[in-house]
Amino acid sequence: MQFKSIIGQQTLIDKLVTGYNENRVAHTLLLLGNEGSGALAVGIAFAQFLNCAHKINNDSCGECPSCIKYEKFAHPDLHFYFPTATNQSIKKDPKSSLFLNEWREYLSDNNAYISQNGWYEHLGIGNKQGYIRKDDANELIGRISLKAYESKFKTVIFWMVDRMNESASNKLLKTLEEPPDNTVIILIGEKYEQLLPTVRSRAQLFKVAKLTDNDIASQLIKEGTEALVARDIALLSNGNWNLAKEILNNAEETQSNFINFRKWLRLCFQPKDYSELIKFNQEISKIGREKQKSFLNYGLEVIHNSILHNHNNGSKVKKAGEELDFSKKLSQFINEANQTDMYSALNQANYHVERNAHAGILFSDLSFTMVDLIAKGSKFAK
Ligand SMILES: [Zn+2]
Repeated sequence: MQFKSIIGQQTLIDKLVTGYNENRVAHTLLLLGNEGSGALAVGIAFAQFLNCAHKINNDSCGECPSCIKYEKFAHPDLHFYFPTATNQSIKKDPKSSLFLNEWREYLSDNNAYISQNGWYEHLGIGNKQGYIRKDDANELIGRISLKAYESKFKTVIFWMVDRMNESASNKLLKTLEEPPDNTVIILIGEKYEQLLPTVRSRAQLFKVAKLTDNDIASQLIKEGTEALVARDIALLSNGNWNLAKEILNNAEETQSNFINFRKWLRLCFQPKDYSELIKFNQEISKIGREKQKSFLNYGLEVIHNSILHNHNNGSKVKKAGEELDFSKKLSQFINEANQTDMYSALNQANYHVERNAHAGILFSDLSFTMVDLIAKGSKFAK
């Protein structure tokens, strides 16, 4: 990662670069910032910068052999430690080095803007808590006692040092205090008070500020979001880039569910020609299980909203614009005559999607049920 791909944080980056230019990089740094502030991304970019052979404009070049390896999070002198726990493939004695493939994949997928929950989900550790453990500490000590393979600095990055357990930290006290020559240890943490005092006292602290609304909005716009939407998301995301992305993804999903659902109901409403409906069923059969479930859940929400509209509780419907108009108009056709059956048809479908039913058969069956139910509702409305 280069500094130029970091969102915001220019003041911090300047401070780190100035430290390097003035030849006073601490052995052990602590970058402390909330989730979504980009502390890990800054740490990785700094490590890449330290070892770049052709630094330009106070950034790494992104192209030298060292940078190319850093960009893939796979350089022999870059060492990562992070919380782990047992999962389906590692059933005992978990430690970071056993999960490096998963780690690099997760980092790449998210451009190093990651979260603890997201990581645990990626690892599939269930409800277990992840830790940085004694085995990690032992391995690190062994590794940094060797000479650097191909670069000036050995760089060590601990992500979520908040999750380092006491036996690991006891092992590392001396290393953090005085790492071997040309070793830079970068600790990334979220909550100062959750760090073991023995760990935090050994590092030079750099605070990673929350992102500003402007940082988030500009980045969203850069990635193709409309300016007005970007601003709204930035306001909701409280300086957390991860949250901004999540809101954006949810909004996109809701929008696509809305469009699909409206199209589907129109096709189910007094169909003259079933070929369009059949085509729709084929399309929805191909979108994958998670999206099908999300589509069906959207349908359940639509029915719920119709009930609210029909009982003078329309103000509780959490929709706006086109979606709200649609839900108002639709509510006259979803009524006592069909709402219960419609609800259970969608619910049943959801249940079967979950259990890997044949999507083509399932959706064509469901569509014909909907045609009948909408006809019932329309008759009742008259
Ligand atoms: Zn370079």
